[in-house]
Amino acid sequence: MSHVKGLRCRECGEEYPAVMKNTCESCFGPLEVEYDWSEVDVSREEIESGPNSIWRYADLLPIDNEDSVVDLGTGFNHLYEADNLADELGIGELYILNDSVNPSFSFKDRVTGVAVAKAIEFGVDAVGCASTGNLASSVAAHAAKANLPAYIFIPDTIEKGKITQTLTYDPEIVPVEGNYDDANRLATEVADENGWGFVNINLRPYYTEGSNTMAYEVAEQLGWEAPDHVVHPMAAGASLLSVQKGYKQLEKLGLIEDGDVKMSGSQPEGFPIAEAVRNDEPVKPIQEYETLAHSLAIGSPADGFYAKDAILESGGYAANPDDDAIIEGIKLLARTEGIFTEPAGGTTVAGLRQLAEEGRIDDDETVVVNITGNGLKAESTLSEFVTVPESISPSIGEFEDRKQRQNNKTKNKKEAVPGGEQ
Ligand SMILES: [Zn+2]
Repeated sequence: MSHVKGLRCRECGEEYPAVMKNTCESCFGPLEVEYDWSEVDVSREEIESGPNSIWRYADLLPIDNEDSVVDLGTGFNHLYEADNLADELGIGELYILNDSVNPSFSFKDRVTGVAVAKAIEFGVDAVGCASTGNLASSVAAHAAKANLPAYIFIPDTIEKGKITQTLTYDPEIVPVEGNYDDANRLATEVADENGWGFVNINLRPYYTEGSNTMAYEVAEQLGWEAPDHVVHPMAAGASLLSVQKGYKQLEKLGLIEDGDVKMSGSQPEGFPIAEAVRNDEPVKPIQEYETLAHSLAIGSPADGFYAKDAILESGGYAANPDDDAIIEGIKLLARTEGIFTEPAGGTTVAGLRQLAEEGRIDDDETVVVNITGNGLKAESTLSEFVTVPESISPSIGEFEDRKQRQNNKTKNKKEAVPGGEQ
């Protein structure tokens, strides 16, 4: 199945065998999976006859043994033709890859799926992660199906409402005094000490490969062609790099002709990667921040430097919407395309709008937007930004009156906007 040659340091190039390890011993650089594609002969037809999940791309993933796969049905999500949203933003051809419908309702199922399969191959007794959100739920879900204990380290300040989904899968939740970094540090030690596989820690090189599948399934659904331009949300910057790598990988394997894709990222206002791209300056970590898009709130993005370079070299750009724009982005996507996303998705849509307004999207481009999580995840946050209309008595007369009032309101609104009436 797999064609993994080993791990390789992105910084100094030092090579390691394919073990559970994420950092280079010589230079502390990040390790990446190295493949040997020389003997790979994988065809479009073979992939097309595979399961309706990311596992149709098993030959392109770092898994050696098919039996280790825990397939919850992640991925191969429908590529929406977003013509309503395209019209609204003045974009020619726009598609949405909707990852809000994955088994645990975010794109994290892609990365977790690959990492947990790898953990099973390594024969670990338990899996885990440090997380405060989508990753925690995804690990807990996969561990449940795999009959493995899952140790989820969280800062003890987190509200119960934010981990209800995770708690329901019944993993070993370990609240740690302090912040996310404290939880993460302890998780790293625990994984080391016990030889357990923690998906975003010692399994990280395999984990990040899972995001490549977003590129694979977009290209397949576009008739084995890469889009011209991808707009992707950014936290640490890793998944944007993986998506780019995915398109290049397909080209290397002869599955698509051209894997060069313009990559643009969107990150909440003030966060390092987007600001660095927009201001043409180095990526500067920040200590203090606030955003509604919690899942993108990483003040020192590990892959920031690489993501910035990748964006600029590809001819893409970065958007930096503020909270108001993010909420507008969520509403715009729901109103035009019927997709309910969390603030990370709102950031991406708001970013798309900003890029379109700033003239960063060419008229003849095929654009793909990656929507990475479900709005139900953030229902309590979003409830502050919607209002329930006044009630009426259960009488047809009152309903007709209400309808009349609504019609007048819409009419007035249209008259107030120059050119609104068409
Ligand atoms: Zn190194």
